Amino acid sequence: MTEPPHRGSCLCGGIRYQLSSELRATTHCHCSMCRKAHGAAFATHGGVQKSDLQLLAGADMLREYRSSPTTTRSFCGQCGSQLFWRKSDEDWVAVALGTLDTPFEPRKQRHIHVRVQGDVVHHTRPMASIRKVVNPGSNNARLPPMAHCDDST
Ligand SMILES: [Zn+2]
Ligand SMILES: [Zn+2]
Repeated sequence: MTEPPHRGSCLCGGIRYQLSSELRATTHCHCSMCRKAHGAAFATHGGVQKSDLQLLAGADMLREYRSSPTTTRSFCGQCGSQLFWRKSDEDWVAVALGTLDTPFEPRKQRHIHVRVQGDVVHHTRPMASIRKVVNPGSNNARLPPMAHCDDST
């Protein structure tokens, strides 16, 4: 695992960012809003303090969408990459880990909002195994309260 700072960018490369602290609470969210926003079976995020996220380029390209009253999702206006989401009443921001350009190996990860119906990954893995912590070797990472993106599933 590389030490911070991590760096990331959107698909077109117009937006680049840096994280000055380690990502915490790696979460694979299967909620309907993350699925639609990312066009994927689930979306994977890690959290940092808002003050630890710095945009290096492309701030003028960043677009925002308020997907629920307190949740705002940020994405590239040119290529559509989903980059961040944050809640208005929290001091951390969730970073879409698929946009990282630096290696990151989470100490712990979890799946949330996993449902039997309407979730395309359930054909391959039973509920019990998908809910398990994937890296059981280290369980020291204390998870900040970022289990939910939007309150809707
Ligand atoms: Zn872009
Ligand atoms: Zn979600």
